[in-house]
Amino acid sequence: MNACLYCEGVHTSQFTFSQFLRGVENGLCELCLKKCLFIKEPYCLLCGRSLLRLSSQFIDHDICKDCAIWKTSSYEGMMTKNRSLLHYNDFMKEWMKRFKFQGDYALLPSFKKEWRSLFYQHFKTCSFIIPIPLSEERHFERGFNQSEALASLLPRQIVSPLSRIHTEKQSKKNKQERLQEELFSFSFSRKLNNEEVLLIDDIYTTGATLYKASKVLKQNGAGLISAMTLARS
Ligand SMILES: [Zn+2]
Ligand SMILES: [Zn+2]
Repeated sequence: MNACLYCEGVHTSQFTFSQFLRGVENGLCELCLKKCLFIKEPYCLLCGRSLLRLSSQFIDHDICKDCAIWKTSSYEGMMTKNRSLLHYNDFMKEWMKRFKFQGDYALLPSFKKEWRSLFYQHFKTCSFIIPIPLSEERHFERGFNQSEALASLLPRQIVSPLSRIHTEKQSKKNKQERLQEELFSFSFSRKLNNEEVLLIDDIYTTGATLYKASKVLKQNGAGLISAMTLARS
C-alpha cells in the first residue's frame, strides 16, 4: 500500500480501476484527486483556461477576452499557447502553498503522470525546456525553484538562459508601466537558432510573466514558444 503524498492517508488495498490505470507511481489518493479539477475542452486556444467556466461576454470566438487583449498588444504572437493541467481551485491553492511556500518538495510527483501526458499531447516537438527563473533571493528563501522542479519531470533537456532582473516593488507602478517593464535578461552560450522551446511555470495568472519571458527569447532567436503550467487561475 502507498500513502497519499498529500493527505498521507493510506490507499485502500482494493484498487479501483482508475487507480490501476494510474499505476503504482500515483501520488494522490482518490479522495484528494476528487478535489482536483483537471482542465478539459473546450478551453481558450491561447491560454488554455476552461471556456465552460467563463460567461459568454468573456469569450471571443475560441479565445478568452484576456487573450484577445494580449493579441492587440506588442506581445502579439510572442507565445503560441499555454496549456495548464488543473484549475487553481481551493485544493490547488493549498497544494501550492505547501509545495511552494512551505517547500514541501516531496509533493512534486503528485500529478506526474497527467503532467507528462499533457506534455506528450501538446509539446512533444519542442527542442528544449526553459523553466521560469526565480530571483536569487526567492530561490534562497525557498530552497528550490518550483518551475525547475516541474520541468525536471519532463523528458527534455532543460536549459536556463533567463535570469530575473531586479525590479522595484510592482505596487509602485501603474498598469502601463508594469506591462512595459522588463522582467528577464538573456544569457546563454549561443543565440537560439529558431528552436521550438517550452516555458514551464507553476501558475498562469495574467500571462504577463510568460509573455515577457517569450519576448526576450524571441529577441534572442527562439522559434515557436509555448508554455506549460501546472495550474490556471
Ligand atoms: Zn490523499
Ligand atoms: Zn485565453
